[in-house]
Amino acid sequence: MIPRFKPDLDLQEIIAALTPPHKDDVERFEQAFAEKMEQRHAIAFPYGRTGLMLLLEAMGLKGKEVICPAYTCVVVPHAIVFSGNTPVFVDCEEGGFNMDLNLVPEVITSNTGAIIATSIFGYPVDLDKLDSLRNKYPHIKIIQDCAHSFAAKWKGRHVQKAGDAAIFGLNISKIITSIFGGMVTTDNDELADKLRRLRNERLKSASLMKSLRRLLYLLAVYPAFWKPIYGIIYRMERAGLLNKFVKYYNENIIDMPKDYLQAMSKLEARVGIVQTQKYDKVVSMRIQKAFEWYENLQNENDIKLPPMVDGATYSHFVCIANDRKAVMEKWRKKGIQLGQIIEYCIPYMKAYSKYRVKEFPFALKYSNTTVNFPLGK
Ligand SMILES: *Cc1c(COP(=O)(O)O)cnc(C)c1O
Repeated sequence: MIPRFKPDLDLQEIIAALTPPHKDDVERFEQAFAEKMEQRHAIAFPYGRTGLMLLLEAMGLKGKEVICPAYTCVVVPHAIVFSGNTPVFVDCEEGGFNMDLNLVPEVITSNTGAIIATSIFGYPVDLDKLDSLRNKYPHIKIIQDCAHSFAAKWKGRHVQKAGDAAIFGLNISKIITSIFGGMVTTDNDELADKLRRLRNERLKSASLMKSLRRLLYLLAVYPAFWKPIYGIIYRMERAGLLNKFVKYYNENIIDMPKDYLQAMSKLEARVGIVQTQKYDKVVSMRIQKAFEWYENLQNENDIKLPPMVDGATYSHFVCIANDRKAVMEKWRKKGIQLGQIIEYCIPYMKAYSKYRVKEFPFALKYSNTTVNFPLGK
């Protein structure tokens, strides 16, 4: 069985994890990451969502409306709510998965504090449209959510640099990983200072227990993707035995992980450094695989192929299947596990229904019909 995703982990990461800690492991990871993303600052967090929450605070936003996609990872509105702000959802653009920036002015009010522009599945945000929003509403902060895209480019411009700051997720399912973890990047010295201060105030340092748990997690994940072992894991997952580990949200509640205020461990940072060095290789392989799927799936008439966009980094190769179950079953028989990432539309989840003031037809349709093909090595 070819797994729906596969982290690019080798012995190198295991060795890095087992290396004795050095006091500036996290700072070295931040520097390496900032350089790779061509930003002046990178600030490490235990999760991307923790970074987003404290970023909104560092921007001085409280009691404000924060505009974000209806079709994104549910941890994004969780972080908005935890920062004391209110999420305002916007539907996807027609023919693409990103938030429709043309709909953003309709929901802007005098209380709008920020817009979270997400390059979902690695598709770059339309920076031309975003620029005109920035010109029209210069007081509204722009946050790039690059958890899926990392250094995606719109007409040659890096998306992460087009705004006040960018957030990244680094868990095991992302393009590169530090086991768990997240980053915020920015070119703004003052904002970076504020965010660092806030982080040092609010986060506890990582305990030895946390490092140990992360190490055990890495040691369990590393062989899990070997063929024979993945077969067993796959069957366990299908039988629902792994739900506790795989399912990261509950429809009914807005919450954060227990350890969301415990800093990134040095162990995770060392793994992150190795992964950052691999970034170019990993992304070019994903782009190549995306193009291969695009060629190979041309004659499949039960799915609609995604747009192929210059500058996209393809965290996922996402197709639309009206009969999703049947398509997944068909590929399972061929030994390929398809994923269904974001199989929910946030404003229709119970926890967020009170924020739903209208319908989100595209996001709703995608939540019921998208499947993604594996891009791992
Ligand atoms: C993964 C992800 C994040 C951050 O997730 P964490 O698990 O908190 O690191 C943010 N936005 C999107 C779209 C994501 O997929």
